[in-house]
Amino acid sequence: SAAQGKKEHLYKILVIGDLGTGKTSIIKRYVHQFFSPHYRATIGVDFALKVLNWDNSTTIRLQLWDIAGQERFGNMTRVYYKEAVGAFVVFDVTRLSTFEAVQMWKADLDNKVLLPNGKAIPAVLLANKCDLASEGFLGNINQLDDYCREKGFHAWFETSAKENIGIEEAARSLVAKILEND
Ligand code: GDP
Ligand code: MG
Repeated sequence: SAAQGKKEHLYKILVIGDLGTGKTSIIKRYVHQFFSPHYRATIGVDFALKVLNWDNSTTIRLQLWDIAGQERFGNMTRVYYKEAVGAFVVFDVTRLSTFEAVQMWKADLDNKVLLPNGKAIPAVLLANKCDLASEGFLGNINQLDDYCREKGFHAWFETSAKENIGIEEAARSLVAKILEND
């Protein structure tokens, strides 16, 4: 919609990845500036709204969809993916199995939602819990550049919901890519 030259966008963004990788924590940190070390598996689909004043004439509302407990089944219904325009795929740098699951999540995404022009929706890979990187399995994190090119990720970021690292940058990168498609 446009009023007095102002543009507003509402973007549905999915946050997917294995259980316990920090999806809910990333959303809570980004939207509510909050982190809790206590594990709480949420049930059902939940979403949070983040409003970005992108520039003087553009307001962006990001609707962040949390999968909340259904990730244990390894894939999501089409209804959940419907009309999404971007995604974060999250893994935990301390658990290799969550990184191995990334390509399954990316394939599930690309199978279930496409942009109106038929292209894959932009996806950004998040290497979360980077505050625990010393316990991590990734020797040289730069190896992810090649991985992202190969698997069709727009970009990757090291993030920590705990220490508030990388999340804003990752969101800006995803939004910039979405705006290019719009
Ligand atoms: P989800 O199942 O993917 O939604 O994961 P949660 O957000 O529930 O997080 C799982 C656990 O990892 C919780 O105990 C969080 O406190 C913890 N956690 C999440 N993000 C981070 C992080 O960046 N660093 C550390 N050290 N722990 C994290
Ligand atoms: Mg969760």
